[in-house]
Amino acid sequence: MNSSMITKLKEEHNRFFKTHKNQPIKVRIQYLKKLKIVLEDKELEIYDALYEDLKKPVFESFASEFLMVLKEIDSFTKNIKEWAAPKKVSGSLLNFPSQDFLLYEPYGTILMISPWNYPFQLAMVPLIGAIATGNTVVLKPSESAPNTSKVLIEILGLVFPQEWVSVVEGDAKIAQALLKVQWDYIFYTGSTQVGKIVAKAAAEYLTPTTLELGGKSPCIVDGTTPIEKTARRIVWGKFLNCGQTCIAPDYVLVKSEFKTSLITAIIEEIEKAFGKNAQKSDDYGRIIHEKHFKKLEADLKNQKIIYGGSIDKKELYFGPTVIDSPPMNSSLIQDEIFGPILPILTYDTINDIDIVLTQLKNPLAFYVFSENKKFINTLIKNNSFGGAVINDALVHFTNTELPFGGIGNSGIGSYHGKYSFDLFSHTKPIVKRSFWFDLPQRYAPYPKSISLFKKILKRI
Ligand code: NAD
Repeated sequence: MNSSMITKLKEEHNRFFKTHKNQPIKVRIQYLKKLKIVLEDKELEIYDALYEDLKKPVFESFASEFLMVLKEIDSFTKNIKEWAAPKKVSGSLLNFPSQDFLLYEPYGTILMISPWNYPFQLAMVPLIGAIATGNTVVLKPSESAPNTSKVLIEILGLVFPQEWVSVVEGDAKIAQALLKVQWDYIFYTGSTQVGKIVAKAAAEYLTPTTLELGGKSPCIVDGTTPIEKTARRIVWGKFLNCGQTCIAPDYVLVKSEFKTSLITAIIEEIEKAFGKNAQKSDDYGRIIHEKHFKKLEADLKNQKIIYGGSIDKKELYFGPTVIDSPPMNSSLIQDEIFGPILPILTYDTINDIDIVLTQLKNPLAFYVFSENKKFINTLIKNNSFGGAVINDALVHFTNTELPFGGIGNSGIGSYHGKYSFDLFSHTKPIVKRSFWFDLPQRYAPYPKSISLFKKILKRI
């Protein structure tokens, strides 16, 4: 697709948006319900595509992709009428008498650029929020998950007219061409590095933008929780989707005296989940492509591997791997890992934790395994992060009542459920005045002294 085709596409969306055909709440609900029916019909095709792209086990595809999308549709069909209704707010006494209220308007056409790691739900969940809020969407899925991309085109084409929802396939070049056009909103999910490119492009037109980015999510373990269950949850969160999860525990920070027992428990849990050879397990995925595989391979150089490290480039298999105390200046610590490598760091005091978290600040997720309330509260109060889970990993993502997003390097803005509604709507504050009362002092010629005015203001 070249730049004139992109401009034409945007114009088609503009024209459609101006017809308001997608605006009535009952039309939005009707289309959401239609979408759900088509999704249920195409469920197996979705799992096949995810298997082709990432060798995702069906259970993972169901729990971490398909179910999330259905839950988001249900959340909007149930609540959109209430969320979108005008809201009365109390008037300011300065404007007495007046009726004050809020109206919610969609932005127009939203450009969405999505990643490959959860290629179905990270495209569909924001898209559902955007269209349920009355916008139109141009989606550019990741070129690295082409099978899922095809299914997205098929499903969305069966439900929405093309000027309401369009899918543009292509790589970074196409994304850059799309970013040259003036959109009404940009929603981007991907790496922090590309997020900066998107933000710069958006600045050209002052386009409002949400950036859902990555980062290094710590997993702090103080040894007060049951070690086996702690290890099980860390292993699940880390090795789901072969570690290619934006909110996966990036590294473990364990109290020194519990390091050995935690490592033993983590290895036991890895083998319980995937056997002694994860390559033979039906429940262990693969790395998305060779470029990412090579990045992970390079991450292992000069590191102390205490478990795993087995790889098979032909199959893009990268076994679950545990690393002991990587140097702070190595790529394993400096960059987001985004793969099945789990570094174990240790601490003795809260000051040691502070030193690490100051260096790797603003993670997308923050995990603490502890039964010590004071320890937990200190950590979650003193650190800034996208979202936290105490005594588990990843699960905050699944609750549509919670906003999902990052801060600083891990992103700007958050979504899911009502938070998507707020994100994709512009809130218009309206004041309707009456003529039966006026404070005469507000008009020139003004009173010589403001003391009487101050007294009146104090009374009202
Ligand atoms: P990526 O940034 O390489 O690509 C994401 C999208 O951006 C793709 O559609 C791609 O075509 C496009 N893109 C790539 N280069 C571009 C450029 N120069 N200009 C414009 N667009 C460009 O990210 P990825 O490899 O697909 O995903 C991995 C990253 O995404 C990780 O850092 C991960 O943490 C992050 N991520 C974040 C979330 C979240 O919800 N916060 C979710 C998933 C992944």
